[in-house]
Amino acid sequence: MTLVVQKFGGTSVADPERLRRVAARVQRHVAAGERVAVVVSAMAGHTNQLVAWVDELGGSTADRAEYDVVVASGEQVTSGLLAVALQAIGVKARSFMGWQVPVATDTAHGKARIASIEREAILAALDRGEVAVVPGFQGVTAEGRITTLGRGGSDTSAVALAAALGAARCDIFTDVDGVYTTDPRIVPRARKLERITFEEMLEMASLGAKVLQTRSVALAMQYGVPVQVLSSFEDKPGTFVVADDLMMEDQLVSGITYSRDEAKVTLIGVRDQPGVAAAIFGPLAQANVNVDMIVQSVSPDGARTDLTFTVTEADLARAHDVLAPIAAELGCERVDADKDVVKVSVVGVGMRSHAGVAHQMFRVLADKGINIRAISTSEIKISVLIPEEYTELAIRALHTAYGLDAED
Ligand code: ADP
Ligand code: ASP
Ligand code: MG
Repeated sequence: MTLVVQKFGGTSVADPERLRRVAARVQRHVAAGERVAVVVSAMAGHTNQLVAWVDELGGSTADRAEYDVVVASGEQVTSGLLAVALQAIGVKARSFMGWQVPVATDTAHGKARIASIEREAILAALDRGEVAVVPGFQGVTAEGRITTLGRGGSDTSAVALAAALGAARCDIFTDVDGVYTTDPRIVPRARKLERITFEEMLEMASLGAKVLQTRSVALAMQYGVPVQVLSSFEDKPGTFVVADDLMMEDQLVSGITYSRDEAKVTLIGVRDQPGVAAAIFGPLAQANVNVDMIVQSVSPDGARTDLTFTVTEADLARAHDVLAPIAAELGCERVDADKDVVKVSVVGVGMRSHAGVAHQMFRVLADKGINIRAISTSEIKISVLIPEEYTELAIRALHTAYGLDAED
């Protein structure tokens, strides 16, 4: 009997009626002879509410372990409710909390990483003919404390469970019917992809396409878990995330992503001499500030230069605290910060074998009068930092230019 893991996101379990529809879908798979383990998210909006309550009472210094106790609860509710909904239509089912599976994680509360998943309890339930319902997002430390995997983490729970169980596939049911060339909420002409490679999906997720959490894609790639992203509201195939060699033809650009969670920091007039970059980025790394794009301007006189880099908005204050005391030592006149920027990226494995993708990107943006503040590239992606107000314009123009628009 085929074993499948089915994950249902927040909008798919948003209320009792939708949970009933999920139960009916699971029932169809059980009736077709599949063994099903289900992973659920919290009801849409519920996790945000829980986070807001912790913030209200504890602010940024709230105990992260207690934060996890609170925010993990949304998934407890939906897993119990789905088990009830399944039983109500005659499907044998039971829920397992993260600590009951157990899903063992490290102790990085709020962004824990899965260390291992025990398969025995779940397999025993499946052997008894039950559907196992597991809350996404949650795990447990070796000391028995509840952890969560970071926002969007139920995708990672699902893929990790599929890997642990040796599932034939992991279906990620969501509110769109697949992975699109870009966020369909921004570009109505976005096109659904039949397939996308693990690598491209990994880049797209890490560059802002939140349809899959980045770590879920990395895990799927590592363990070779076949993943499908599909709609929980319709009955049709979604997008398959596949290994490179399963792609029939290479598209030059497969997708365009954006991330508004970017802040730009510019150090004006730092001394242009060896050791300055190390003196800046060393302390930032020590303070756990992740730096993404870096641009150093040419110094006109060889004495002073401007250094620009980007961090996430959440890290901006910390970056500022780290730089303030050392700025003077570096001869820096001023530290500027700008949150009104967005990173737009084009992704595609086809870039490896084709030149000119970057040039085309810069041309399109120039034609729209959009100024590029920073650039970064990898083998299969090009990212630019631009003013946030141009997000939609840039994405739509690029989408058309790379031939990604859906036919009418
Ligand atoms: P869930 O609650 O099911 O986990 P998410 O909201 O996390 O759902 O992810 C689905 C959303 O991802 C879609 O509603 C869509 O707006 C967004 N999204 C962003 N980029 C893409 C893309 N390239 N393809 C499909 N969806 C995308
Ligand atoms: N409920 C969690 C969140 O909103 C996890 C998830 O839905 O994937 O981030
Ligand atoms: Mg999600």
